[in-house]
Amino acid sequence: MNEPHKQQVTQVPLLDVNRGNQLDSEAIEDAIKGVTDSGRFLFGPDCQKLEESIAELCYVERAVGCASGSDALLLALMALGIGPGDEVAIPSFTFFATGSAVTRLGARPVFVDIDCQTFNMDPACLREVITPATKAVIPVHLFGQCAEMNEICAIAAEHDLHVIEDAAQAIGARYQGRPAGSWGDVGCFSFYPTKNLGGFGDGGMLVTRYPSLADELRLLACHGMRPRYYHSVVGINSRLDSMQAAVLNVKLERLAEATIKRQANAQRYRELFESEGLAETLLLPQVADQMDHVWNQYTIRVPNGCRDALRSYLAEQQVGAEIYYPVPLHQQECFERFGYLPGDLPNTELAASQVLSLPIFPELEAAEQEFVVAAVGRFFAMEQAAAA
Ligand SMILES: *Cc1c(COP(=O)(O)O)cnc(C)c1O
Repeated sequence: MNEPHKQQVTQVPLLDVNRGNQLDSEAIEDAIKGVTDSGRFLFGPDCQKLEESIAELCYVERAVGCASGSDALLLALMALGIGPGDEVAIPSFTFFATGSAVTRLGARPVFVDIDCQTFNMDPACLREVITPATKAVIPVHLFGQCAEMNEICAIAAEHDLHVIEDAAQAIGARYQGRPAGSWGDVGCFSFYPTKNLGGFGDGGMLVTRYPSLADELRLLACHGMRPRYYHSVVGINSRLDSMQAAVLNVKLERLAEATIKRQANAQRYRELFESEGLAETLLLPQVADQMDHVWNQYTIRVPNGCRDALRSYLAEQQVGAEIYYPVPLHQQECFERFGYLPGDLPNTELAASQVLSLPIFPELEAAEQEFVVAAVGRFFAMEQAAAA
């Protein structure tokens, strides 16, 4: 028998959602048809099914769908009564939504520096920023690895702080065997298409151990209306629609398998970078003790100020790579009024200048990873030749 013809790799995308979606295209089409035939575009049975499945995945009592991960964060803070005069401790090295949820409610974000190895909130730095006005902390499980929740929850308990987990990038991740989203008062998930469980548009989910909090979240996500046209509180309109839920129910069945593939890809990158002799030139991502990392991103650090040059070279070589995130929240123009100065969060600022995320999606092929690593290798060979 002939070897199947292997196509020469000439480019590698950062992400190709179509490859994953094609695996289930028939089931997804059937699910969508089911919703269109039912005419129940909101609050359909698919929504309830997804909520039950996500609650089970997270080992919690309740899950409440909403329109996005950003709304999940906002709703969680609303339900916990955060408002003007309150401080909320958050990392600065995160996606913008972690911060805007806080400022939208008139509360003040207090930025906590990270551990450079994991990119997550450093519990020792959290301790330093707590004041009598601090009401909550939002640890972010960045790139698919949990923050050190044991210590963060202990500090929060000591100071009577609410804990809201931004688990948008970390569905299925665990720390000490315990799932992301199950540690705090509320866990927030996103189904944005680039997330590990990505829909065909926007979507989000809140999870909690507390049935009464779940009830409050559901009320707030539906204009605070109960019964119909009677409003006891001012909520927002944030719903997960049936179409997204139907698609996500199909995709959820493959999540565990897709996560294992991401983990295998991360392991293969490590081996390839090591065999190219690049494991010291670059700082490869680290998995902390007792963490099950789900690799939403594979993020390397490029020291010596050559990150941007490497990124340009990779773009020339048709390798997708992205900087998550180039400007930390404490240095965003819209947050200038909080008075942070360069140098206030040294690890965060260093990470922002060094990080580069490489393709890691589940269907990425070994030959594509070899192509990525070879391109990185050529870049550093050229750098060394130029320096000599
Ligand atoms: C994606 C993301 C969000 C927001 O989710 P959306 O569904 O896009 O609103 C919040 N926090 C983090 C860390 C994210 O990665």
